[in-house]
Amino acid sequence: MKCAGNIEVRDVEESSINIDPIQAGGRLTPEAMKAIIAYGDGYSVCDNCRKPFRLDYIRTPPIDVFHRDLARFLNLDVARVVPGARRGFQAVAGTYVGKGDPVLVTALSHYTEILAIEGCGGIPREIPRSRDNLITPDATAEKIEEVIRETGKTPPLLFLDHVDYAYGNLHPVAEITKVAHGYDIPVLLNGAYTVGIMPVDGREIGADFVVGSGHKSMAAPAPSGVLAVRQERAGEVFRTTSARTDVTGRTFGIKEVEMMGCTLMGVTLLGMMASFPAVRERVNHWDRELSNAQRVVDALRRIEGTVIQSQYPRAHTLTRVDTTRSFDLVAEKHKKKGFFFSSSLKAKGIVGIIPGATKVWKFNTYGLTDAQAGYVAEAFLEIARENGLSVS
Ligand SMILES: *Cc1c(COP(=O)(O)O)cnc(C)c1O
Repeated sequence: MKCAGNIEVRDVEESSINIDPIQAGGRLTPEAMKAIIAYGDGYSVCDNCRKPFRLDYIRTPPIDVFHRDLARFLNLDVARVVPGARRGFQAVAGTYVGKGDPVLVTALSHYTEILAIEGCGGIPREIPRSRDNLITPDATAEKIEEVIRETGKTPPLLFLDHVDYAYGNLHPVAEITKVAHGYDIPVLLNGAYTVGIMPVDGREIGADFVVGSGHKSMAAPAPSGVLAVRQERAGEVFRTTSARTDVTGRTFGIKEVEMMGCTLMGVTLLGMMASFPAVRERVNHWDRELSNAQRVVDALRRIEGTVIQSQYPRAHTLTRVDTTRSFDLVAEKHKKKGFFFSSSLKAKGIVGIIPGATKVWKFNTYGLTDAQAGYVAEAFLEIARENGLSVS
């Protein structure tokens, strides 16, 4: 079936159990599906834009209320929607990072944080990870001291991933933030893998800025996201234009420089808004998500030679596994080579693991029903048994 021309219908989520790490939290709600049809046309939210002509003032549909709801959801003061978490990083970096400034990131930072820093001419400086792949307050303090000693500058910003993309580990972000604040370094909490799937309290963590991804974790279309800040920072990150053009003498009202005036002007925002009631509710069921993740992880651990590289027990639904000494041994002899694994899963209706990967790979059980989680756990065990691996 085609949508149009040679564009195939996408039915992955209907036909399969998808455990692709980046896709689990971005599946739309039925409400969002309806909203995106209704608001699919270009600048659809601009029908009722009136003075002072800015996205967060629009009352029909209630975009103004949504902005306040988002700030409250993260327990911070002011929120804006942004075209992806990365654009939130860019707005904050654009405000605080100057050319040549050392900027703190971590050994597990997402590449988009590095690019945001690079775009401003900043120099990323990594806080190393511990042996168990965690960022610690001690390592943070040491790195800050090192950077100050070497450059004579205090970093203007720390980018801190709440849960990292590589291991799905939950880092001690409140303690790390406390250390950074001891040096007057503001902290951007990267909640791309947390905001919208588990409870995130920006104030309790102490973050100056919290960034979330709509399409990764808030059941919204791409590109969408949120940037929430403390009141003290709002005037800086959300500063309004003061430009006046020389020939025509034009000025531009209260458009915010880092937001390029307006951000999500149609379908992405309405998708995010329509999913929000469900998203706000679902974060309260994180314990159930964790028990499903744990169930699949525990099945994998029963397969001889398999090592869970993420924190154990699991504190997030994204998990990294090393099967070099289990499924990869099968791949060496199998006629399909490494592709035997993804194709065996596919045959059982499970997709989302990189085809050909049998050494180190990741999966995310977020959003599976209990029955689906049980099915995935059993599928891994069956594939192991079918290929002569021993299961305890
Ligand atoms: C996916 C991801 C991002 C990028 O999010 P976008 O919304 O696509 O910009 C940033 N950081 C982490 C940790 C991620 O996992």
